[in-house]
Amino acid sequence: MPKYKHNIFSKLPNVRTTIFTTMGQLAQKHSAINLSQGFPNFDPDPSLIDLVTQAMKQGYNQYAPMAGVMELREMISEKIEQLYGRHYHPESEITVTIGASQAIFTIITAFIGNGDEVIVIKPAYDCYEPAIEVNGGIPVFVQLNNTDFKIDWEVFRSKITPRTKMVIINTPHNPSGTIFTKEDMLELQRSLENTDIIIISDEVYEHITFDGHGHESASKYDGLASRTFVCGSFGKTFHITGWKMGYCAGPAELMHEFRKTHQFNVFSADHAVQKALATYLKEPQHYLGLNQFYQEKRDLFLDGLSTSRFKIKPSQGTYFQLVDYSDITQETDEVFAERLVTEHRIASIPISGFNTKGIDNHLIRFCFAKTNETLLKATEILRKL
Ligand code: PMP
Ligand code: GLN
Repeated sequence: MPKYKHNIFSKLPNVRTTIFTTMGQLAQKHSAINLSQGFPNFDPDPSLIDLVTQAMKQGYNQYAPMAGVMELREMISEKIEQLYGRHYHPESEITVTIGASQAIFTIITAFIGNGDEVIVIKPAYDCYEPAIEVNGGIPVFVQLNNTDFKIDWEVFRSKITPRTKMVIINTPHNPSGTIFTKEDMLELQRSLENTDIIIISDEVYEHITFDGHGHESASKYDGLASRTFVCGSFGKTFHITGWKMGYCAGPAELMHEFRKTHQFNVFSADHAVQKALATYLKEPQHYLGLNQFYQEKRDLFLDGLSTSRFKIKPSQGTYFQLVDYSDITQETDEVFAERLVTEHRIASIPISGFNTKGIDNHLIRFCFAKTNETLLKATEILRKL
């Protein structure tokens, strides 16, 4: 903990630097191959960069409209309707945000107050809990099964109380690489019937699913869509995580409330990037080809590890692969991940920090959004462990 000069009351006393930053810095220090934080180490499509440059030259350098550039909202609306059969009105039901992170933070801030309970499924991506806590809410955890990361819907239902205001789901799931099936979505829908519970459906990896698995968006289900904010991220889809551009879609009355907070939180997102994305989205192959693109990378990575001592269940979605290292060592995942960087120069993410009570199942996460050359180099080292 830093020593403050002033007597500061921390609203987030337990928050530390994220494991993504810590492992990334360690990777840099040891000149390691960085498969820790999730980001591509290759460039986005040059034509997308050209579109941003053009938009800047055309003068789109001042504030964009609060809810986002209308052509972009129209394209998002069209895309969701084409893929999942639900119409979101571009005027009142879609807002462009500074990455999915800001959408999620703003939704939680707009709806969660003191004592409100939010069900979070663990292991969970790290941005949900601090957002709940800083707003006075209480995260209530449902731990996924150790082995296949399936959810026990009976346990889920047992966590719903009169104070439950929100549920956060994430499919395809970071860090496990599993996806919610149609049955899962129907269970969720049934579980929330006759409640006013709102859902955040974090679908940032919607275009990265493998082996013919489709993405089950909450927007496909009437009983879910009517209470859900679906959150998306162009960072994941177009290899532009540094541009921080995302959106959320939800029913008009929820979106109306969301925008009250959004307009004073950030007001609006980058104008030129929105203009460029509106044009780029006109070609569906730009996102529909992503499954195949990443499946090839996953397969290359798995093939390279096939004779290693890691035990692996192929990722069903996201650009992450979990591996079980218990045949190599019984060290904790944090110790093993640290040693992997310092001794073998490969950075990964230990999973225990994302579980309830720090449960350690000897799993680490690798990001395979990397050039084939990087993946081959990494697997060559990992095979020798
Ligand atoms: N949710 C999940 C599950 C993620 O992995 C990420 C990626 N960092 C985000 C949300 C945030 O997305 P963005 O970078 O668009 O803010
Ligand atoms: N989503 C990225 C991951 O899971 C992390 C982004 C961040 O560092 N906040 O690796």
